[in-house]
Amino acid sequence: MPITVGLPLAALICAALAVVGVAPLRRAPVSRLRTPYRLFAAGIGVGVLGLLGSAAVGGVGAAVRLGPFAVGHAVSVVLLLAGLLRLPGAADQRGAALRHALDGALLAACALHITWTLFVEHALVRHAGRATPSLSDPRTFLLGVPLLVALAAVGIAGVTAGRARPPRAALVLTGVGVAATAMTGLCLLVSTRYADGPVVLAFGLGYAVSLGLTATALRRVGPAVQTEAGLPGSGILVALVPVGGVIIAAIIRMAVYGSTDNISILIATVIGSLIAVRQMLANSAARRYAHRLAEREAVFKEMAYTDALTGLGNRRQLMRVLYENAVGGPPCVLMAVDLDGFKNINDMRGHDVGDAVLVEVGRRLRANLRPGDVATRLGGDEFAVLMWGRLEEAMRVAERLLAVLGAGYDTDGSAVFLSASIGLAGCATADDVPSLLHNADLSLRFAKQRGKSRVERYDAAYDRWMRRRTTVEQELRGAIEREELSLVYQPIVSVPEGRPVGVEALVRWHHPKLGQISPAEFIPIAEESGLVTRIDRWVLHHACHQLSRWIADGHDPWVSVNISIRELHLSGYVDEVVEVLRAHRVPPQQLVLEVTEHAVALDLDEVVDRLADLRAVGVRIALDDFGAGYSSLGQLRRLPIDLLKIDKSLVGEPAPLVGVVVGLGAQLGLSVVAEGVTERAQQEIVQSAGCRLVQGELFGRAMPAEHVELLFATEIPVPQPRPAQDMGQVDSAHEMRQS
Ligand code: C2E
Ligand code: MG
Ligand code: MG
Repeated sequence: MPITVGLPLAALICAALAVVGVAPLRRAPVSRLRTPYRLFAAGIGVGVLGLLGSAAVGGVGAAVRLGPFAVGHAVSVVLLLAGLLRLPGAADQRGAALRHALDGALLAACALHITWTLFVEHALVRHAGRATPSLSDPRTFLLGVPLLVALAAVGIAGVTAGRARPPRAALVLTGVGVAATAMTGLCLLVSTRYADGPVVLAFGLGYAVSLGLTATALRRVGPAVQTEAGLPGSGILVALVPVGGVIIAAIIRMAVYGSTDNISILIATVIGSLIAVRQMLANSAARRYAHRLAEREAVFKEMAYTDALTGLGNRRQLMRVLYENAVGGPPCVLMAVDLDGFKNINDMRGHDVGDAVLVEVGRRLRANLRPGDVATRLGGDEFAVLMWGRLEEAMRVAERLLAVLGAGYDTDGSAVFLSASIGLAGCATADDVPSLLHNADLSLRFAKQRGKSRVERYDAAYDRWMRRRTTVEQELRGAIEREELSLVYQPIVSVPEGRPVGVEALVRWHHPKLGQISPAEFIPIAEESGLVTRIDRWVLHHACHQLSRWIADGHDPWVSVNISIRELHLSGYVDEVVEVLRAHRVPPQQLVLEVTEHAVALDLDEVVDRLADLRAVGVRIALDDFGAGYSSLGQLRRLPIDLLKIDKSLVGEPAPLVGVVVGLGAQLGLSVVAEGVTERAQQEIVQSAGCRLVQGELFGRAMPAEHVELLFATEIPVPQPRPAQDMGQVDSAHEMRQS
């Protein structure tokens, strides 16, 4: 069979197979495969077109016949390689395609060097008399370039398949297809130069099968598993074995012929250059990787020092700054900040609202500090700020923060109110970081103890106070069992008649060693430690017992009992009160429960419900210390109460303020009691403001029950005030009697 038959036959078979193989590649299953599919289709098309071109000019001289397929095959292999490298899992990392190409080319160059040095050159010299190809003969290039391309293709396809990410099977098979296409195409090309029709046809069939294999394998490639990009290999292992082979081949040749030739030197130079470029790439990849690692480490470090919720620093950050700069460094102040009653917000409104409030607190802190100051959240509602500067400046900043943090928090529609307590300690007050933290914490606890919503600076006396506090708390635990508590009663008097209409039960604690401890000291401690509910239960019980005795003796006072806000959050509290009233046979109207304004302002909804339940059973409710807290008029209107007790701080004020409260009480239909009336001047003020119920030392201190009984029998002499200006007054006493 002449070549003029064998070549067209092979070309037609390849063309037919190419049409079948390429047609399905028009549509890629996923967009990531579109480009590789196109490259493969183009590669197969260009190769087969070149072959058809060569077949068309089959009869003409060998150089012209070689031309179309030589060019077509070289371009085709490059396109197929490009397609292979673009497949998912083949070369996904940055620069991987270039690394694969260089490593593949290196392998090919080594293979070329070894075969050239040991066999090819020797054979050429023996058959043709010389080994150096003629540069003026176009066939040198028409065969040489496809040879180099095909060898490189085998190397690159091999490296790519070897490094493919899972699932690898389809990718490896495609790589095999590309390598087989490159090699069978090369053999077909060489055979059209040197062989007869049957050999050309045989290689043509091999080429067709390789194309078919490539197209079929390609269609099985799917998405690759995504893995974390690590440090790419340096390629040194890929180079080591073949370069070793090159050295051995060179040594053998030197031993056999005693010399080397120009072409092997040229190939060795190419090998050296490829290795150099490859190492440069490996270096820059290593640098990029190190940079990425450093960046990531910085991010992790930052996270380790940041509070995830507020974005402020965390405790670790505070400790780092303190240990690095605070003690023995420039003047600085540590500020401990704690939100008052934050737990209630979490309990009442849910943790989402609580979180939103904390985030806003963080924002307000940041916005109100100076550059360089370090704001941190230590956990829960505890914050700390390290300020650079002197204590006086820090005090000013702290006062500002107090105002800023006390403004309402707008969360899902309704406002939340809370205050903050702040304790300051200058860095100079401590020898080391733990003492500084202790001092700031101590001042904060002092601020809490002194009524919250205030700033306190560290004083050495606080340590004593702290010890006292701890002792009080410990001793308080057994006070009821040891029967150390007692009750005194302070009369509430209607003026001007001077008739005691009610009494306020006030708890007293006498400790055998500590002596008399004021409720102003131990009630806040009891509230903080949760002991207050037990104490209040005891008080309610004893006050009702006393009331029942007075009723039995024919008196008709009401008894006020102070309760803590904690009680109003106990679900069984109303039942408990009803049970106590029943047990002592006390009419509910004669019991008044006093809640302080400050506590009520914090969590209105549940308080309103619970107070309404208490009123529903007939008990009356007084809002204590009114004017000392910050409840809004809106809140006041919502609260189901019967009595307003004007705080003693307001009673000392000039007339208009008391008058306003009395007027307000009248508007809301409430009786008004003025507390803490100690002097005649105060009595005149409250009386002329229209207040008809008063309580205070001027009308009787808190006293034992027996003394109160004597008072019931008499009338308390009321000093007659100057003629009062009428304020459209309400007769509070009359009202109280009516209600
Ligand atoms: P409060 O309910 O506002 O009681 C009035 C306080 O003012 C009492 O102090 C009373 O002795 C004092 N006071 C009365 N008249 C005058 C006066 O003319 N001038 C001045 N400056 N003060 C006067 P006390 O008994 O020390 O109680 C302090 C606070 O402790 C009470 O304030 C109340 O909030 C709380 N408390 C007292 N007993 C109990 C209790 O059994 N349970 C609870 N949860 N708290 C109680
Ligand atoms: Mg009270
Ligand atoms: Mg009060």
